[in-house]
Amino acid sequence: MSASNLILVLNCGSSSVKFSVIDPKSEESFLSGLAEKLGLADAYITFKYDGKKDTITLKTNDHVGALESIIDKLKELGLFDKVAAIGHRVVHGAELFTDSAEITPDMLKKIEECYSLAPLHNPANVQGIQAAQKAFPNLKNVAVFDTSFHQTMPERAYTYAVPMKLYREHKVRRYGFHGTSYRFVTAEAAKMLNRDVNDFALIVAHLGNGASIASILNGKSMDTSMGLTPIEGLVMGTRCGDVDAGLFSLMAQQCNMDVKAIDTMLNKQSGLLGISEVSNDCREVEEAAAAGNKNAQLALDVFAYRLAKYIASYVVPLGRLDALVFTGGIGENSASMRKAVIKQLGFLGLELDDKANEECCRGKAGVITSSTKPLAMVINTNEELMIAQDTAQIIGA
Ligand code: ADP
Repeated sequence: MSASNLILVLNCGSSSVKFSVIDPKSEESFLSGLAEKLGLADAYITFKYDGKKDTITLKTNDHVGALESIIDKLKELGLFDKVAAIGHRVVHGAELFTDSAEITPDMLKKIEECYSLAPLHNPANVQGIQAAQKAFPNLKNVAVFDTSFHQTMPERAYTYAVPMKLYREHKVRRYGFHGTSYRFVTAEAAKMLNRDVNDFALIVAHLGNGASIASILNGKSMDTSMGLTPIEGLVMGTRCGDVDAGLFSLMAQQCNMDVKAIDTMLNKQSGLLGISEVSNDCREVEEAAAAGNKNAQLALDVFAYRLAKYIASYVVPLGRLDALVFTGGIGENSASMRKAVIKQLGFLGLELDDKANEECCRGKAGVITSSTKPLAMVINTNEELMIAQDTAQIIGA
């Protein structure tokens, strides 16, 4: 490790800070962890390094306190002077950011302009940026947006069929998320398959707690299933994905629910959790289904069917399909979910290789079909590394 070549990657939520310290060249992670329950008296931080795990209570229970604690740990591990810059995950860049960028006072104002589109996420991201500027006054900060990769979507893909006034006055359109993961996975897939990214048509399914898919042609996003907010599209852990917009007035009129209650039910109590009535966690739903729970099986069936339908329709923006990539916790680990999806897509020419599919989990990536045109594969995403590499490139480290 040479001097000052590490990047501190921060992903700040309203009550949490996820962090890692990465060498963007060797791709090695030296320290990672999570500060949780910020704002509460029992806020704590967990550090992982050298195969060890420490958890300590925070002295100050806010973002600044979390960063002070990270600084102490960096000093203890002899890493403090080796950090060259800080990369921040920022959720929403609206139409203002098509790329990652160094954070200047002007840019911070623009991130604040996006508050109305991401009222829960962007203020927390800004809090994290300000805390980092205070804690590391000599280091540059870079923002990497979840939305920017999808700014290449054509108008026909991002326009909702609602009065254009909503777009003109309130920026209502489809934006898409998980862009950092899509960018990383696209480059990895091209590398693993020895393909030119500029002549490559792929669909990536990022299936974590949040789930979305994207059509990516020659390295550019053509369409993606999340929209104005992350609730649109696929079935997720607790989000409903696509529903009939008429549901909102029914819930208001027949269930006497206000906007906040409707929002909570569709974002936090739906998806795998809502249907299975067991859990939002795919593993637990799979276990319940294997034990004979019918609602759990239905939740998995709806998840797989919706995803298969989306994949088939997402060939449209590409005109052809070279590769289907599974990533995210479910995509990387659930062989049975991948099987259920691919089984429904035989007409595209996808044929599962059962043994290869079973083998791809817990960090093993690879092709999982016997078919090669198109093929399906598993790739482990690494959003933190992508943020670290963008940051190093932007500050010229
Ligand atoms: P996040 O979106 O929070 O980053 P992850 O990408 O870590 O989430 O994905 C979490 C999801 O991955 C959970 O639903 C979890 O159950 C699922 N998952 C992880 N391992 C497995 C597994 N072996 N089998 C099925 N699902 C799994």
